[in-house]
Amino acid sequence: YQAKRAGEPTMAYTHARDTADVERLMLTGDLRRAVDRQEFTVDFQPIVDLGSGEVISAEALARWHHPGQGNLDPVQFLETVERSGQLPAFADAVLDQSLVAMRTWREAGFDLPVAVNVSPRSLLDPDFPAAVLSRLERHEVPADRLVLELAETLTISQLDVVARVLAELRDAGVRLAVDDFGTGVSSLSVLSRIPVHQLKIDQEFVATVETSAEAAAVIRTTVDLARNLHLTVVAEGVESEPQRRALWELGCLAGQGHLFARPLSAARFLGTLQRGSAGRPGALAAALHDA
Ligand code: C2E
Ligand code: MG
Ligand code: MG
Ligand code: MG
Repeated sequence: YQAKRAGEPTMAYTHARDTADVERLMLTGDLRRAVDRQEFTVDFQPIVDLGSGEVISAEALARWHHPGQGNLDPVQFLETVERSGQLPAFADAVLDQSLVAMRTWREAGFDLPVAVNVSPRSLLDPDFPAAVLSRLERHEVPADRLVLELAETLTISQLDVVARVLAELRDAGVRLAVDDFGTGVSSLSVLSRIPVHQLKIDQEFVATVETSAEAAAVIRTTVDLARNLHLTVVAEGVESEPQRRALWELGCLAGQGHLFARPLSAARFLGTLQRGSAGRPGALAAALHDA
């Protein structure tokens, strides 16, 4: 038995850190090829009317089909993408695939807004608005069909630059959602300084909405705030019928989650649109009949 000296990492810690570094290095090398070889794909999760089940929009979620490691989720690779210098190429690939899907769905008669997640780092790049707008033009998708989702991880000092970049996109018609609302430290200052259209309620609050008075109060307050600021609200991670009902009763009208559908390929998403609802076939027809 050896006493640890204060400040000295344990063996286990050192080993874990080395492993993480090695994995990151390997992924960084793989990244250079991943964009060219089209190993990144995008799945789309339906966002539905919590009353009728009708699909009203979609969120684009990136996936990496790594030849050696199988399918990787964004939490496993986003940090590496950001550190590697490959972020612009990755973001372009995600946006391109999202716009291709939007165009295909439009041609099939479904003109839906699609939300694409953006890294804060992209928003610090003054060339970002022009890159987004030229891609919208190339894919012939109207700017007001694109929603950019930004998590509240910005520092106050970054806000000024980001505010300028976002104002440029807003002026062109692109809309902005604050992702994971309520989990960051600067939610309210973000709202007063950047042009926001939508708040997304984090799944942390949705998970306990019908059992925790605090979670319900956070959601009710977010819904009121959104109403007063003329913003829309979407709840994330809706997994059960009691959660759906509780959200609806709190005034939250839209949501996404496994109750309705998991993220789907663009082709399967179109199939869902053609059936009229996600997860609850016939819900849309029933709602129209009741009306
Ligand atoms: P997010 O934007 O908050 O996305 C929601 C996450 O919740 C997604 O995880 C989604 O698959 C998952 N989810 C959806 N419904 C449910 C549910 O009912 N229960 C639970 N437990 N989870 C649900 P995913 O796809 O692993 O993405 C994780 C995060 O990675 C996203 O969180 C987003 O911040 C980021 N991300 C994803 N795609 C991109 C991208 O293209 N660019 C950037 N910069 N970030 C991305
Ligand atoms: Mg998101
Ligand atoms: Mg989110
Ligand atoms: Mg979240």
